[in-house]
Formats: sequence, structure tokens, C-alpha cells
Amino acid sequence: MPLNVLDPRAPFVLDVRELGRRPGSMQHKTLVVHAPADLGIGGVVEVPEGSDIGLTIRLESVMEGVLVSGEARALISGECARCLDPFDDQLAVEWQELYAYPEGETDTESEADEDGLSVQDDMIDLEQPVRDALVLALPLAPTCRDDCPGLCSQCGARLEDDPSHRHEYTDPRWAALAELLTNETNESGSSGAGPTEEM
Ligand SMILES: [Zn+2]
Ligand SMILES: [Zn+2]
Repeated sequence: MPLNVLDPRAPFVLDVRELGRRPGSMQHKTLVVHAPADLGIGGVVEVPEGSDIGLTIRLESVMEGVLVSGEARALISGECARCLDPFDDQLAVEWQELYAYPEGETDTESEADEDGLSVQDDMIDLEQPVRDALVLALPLAPTCRDDCPGLCSQCGARLEDDPSHRHEYTDPRWAALAELLTNETNESGSSGAGPTEEM
């Protein structure tokens, strides 16, 4: 896939011809694009493919190229890190990038494209910066809400459903001992291995 060819119909590609090259001239654009695939952190939280991403863009002509300041608003969905329930949330991020004019306009293989972003045939591609800004802002351990009580560490019960949920023995070693003692009583000492010898 050649780097230097932008598809003017691609959702993240903007035509900047109207902006002109007089430094200081400015344009504002708002658009809604569909989220591309793989915009997320593997299975934890993502911007669902095809969901709307709202973009508010300011284009500013500067000496070296086009300075783009943008805000993206997206829906994110994921799995709560505490209670494992699916949840949806909103995310808004801002970014700024300079799209440089190529050194020699006709030399499409020029080194200008190697690292930074560039204006290509009077077009710019917003996808990479939008993608980077959103992925960077995704929470690594998302929760359905700030005070999600999560799951009981012992039995996995949802604490939200049962706020007074607790176990009589909080230390698992004591819980194991209690179980042994219960068995002992029930089975009238038929087992030779008493719990007291093992302690
Ligand atoms: Zn939760
Ligand atoms: Zn429990």
C-alpha cells in the first residue's frame, strides 16, 4: 500500500485546498466518521468498529504546512475490570499535528514523508492521529463506574447485588480448617488424618 496516495473518499481524509497557503488562514470543520477496525486494547476496551466518531477540526495554514488541532468524541465499550460486566462510556480526546508540505511537490518519494505527516495532493489523512489519541486515552483497567464494588474475592458473587455479602471466615486457611472440622464431625472421625496433626 503506497504511503503517498490518499483516497479523497476515505473517511479520515480532508481536502485542504480551500484553506490556501497563506499563513494564518484558518478553517473549521466538523465531521462524523465511522470507527475503523482494531481501535482498542485487545479485548479489554475498544471503540466499536463502525461506531460514530465525532471530529471537530481546526485547520491553520502555517509556513511549513497545515497545523491541525482536533477533538474526537467516541463511544467506548469494554468489560469492567472489577465486576466483568460489559459497559459503554464516552471518550473525548484532543490532539494537534503538523502536516508538512512535501519538499518538492512532485517528488512523492521524498524523505518528507518518512517520519512526520504531510500534505499530499492537497489532502491530509487524520486517521493515524485520531487513532493514536483515542488508543492512548483508553483506560487500561476500565470500570463500569468509579465505585463499582466488583466481585467477592472468595466466591465471585457480585457485591452490587448483595452489598452485605460476607463470609464467616475471611482467611482462606481458616476456611479450609473449618471445612475439615465440619467433615470430621459429620463423619464421626472415620478419617485417620486429623486436622490437628497437619497444622
Ligand atoms: Zn463494574
Ligand atoms: Zn463471596
